[in-house]
Amino acid sequence: MEILKTKAKMQAWSAARKRQGKTICFVPTMGYLHAGHVSLLEKGKPLCDELVLSIFVNPTQFGPNEDLDAYPRDIDNDLALAEAAGTTAVFLPDNTEMYGENYQTRVALDHLPHHLCGKSRPVHFGGVATVVTKLFNIVMPDVAVFGKKDFQQLRVIRQLTEDLDFNIRIVGGDIVREPDGLAMSSRNAYLTPEQRKSALCLSQAIDIAKTQIAGGATDVIAIRDKMTDHINGFDHTAIDYIEFCDPVTLDEVETIGGQVVLALAVKVGKSRLIDNALIDPPQ
Ligand code: AMP
Repeated sequence: MEILKTKAKMQAWSAARKRQGKTICFVPTMGYLHAGHVSLLEKGKPLCDELVLSIFVNPTQFGPNEDLDAYPRDIDNDLALAEAAGTTAVFLPDNTEMYGENYQTRVALDHLPHHLCGKSRPVHFGGVATVVTKLFNIVMPDVAVFGKKDFQQLRVIRQLTEDLDFNIRIVGGDIVREPDGLAMSSRNAYLTPEQRKSALCLSQAIDIAKTQIAGGATDVIAIRDKMTDHINGFDHTAIDYIEFCDPVTLDEVETIGGQVVLALAVKVGKSRLIDNALIDPPQ
């Protein structure tokens, strides 16, 4: 496994593999790897000849009062997990390498960022779109794997790949959960033992909605009220949003008529946790 810290070295590595006719699969992350990240590497491994992981805590996708400085890091463990999953190269740039002193360009999408997490994190998806565009140009992958855990991010990436004509196949990886249902996240590391118990409210609220919809409920307000009551029954929780959306446009729906994405964000203590599920109404 090679570790490449500069854009030039990464591009040269990829270009050399491409000249040999090899294909490249890419998994971008912010590090502090857990089983969710590893599942993306494992999903990507058989798809191409080479498997590239990037680890970069991208400052431009954090707002001024967010957790950039506190974001957990453990590079030695990340590299061990990456190697065990068959990663052939790790791109590990620092901020100066990625953005330099005279950086000016941003990638912006017109509609998708104005939904869900974008409402409370106004700079987030611009930062994501910009860094992923740069990473695509640096790594030059044939396939890139992103987790469905960040459903809106995956939509943003699919859209920018299409809009900016990247010849890259975007693959979505299923959400990996702890045995009790909590979606794995690097941010779970912030939770105290008590908050860890409260963090279960997200997946449990999704289960409540699934049961309601399976039983024929279609009124989003009524379903959301039940979810809200459940979440508010836990200590240290503050709901950011609970929304039912069209899975492609992310426009909110008021009545469940077809497949929807149910997405929610809840602050548990200082940690802002997200979860989602695609839900089909009964036939
Ligand atoms: P992050 O390091 O949080 O930026 O995440 C890097 C990639 O891992 C993104 O594509 C995430 O959607 C994905 N990811 C994070 N958590 C999970 C999870 N629990 N299951 C599947 N994919 C995940």
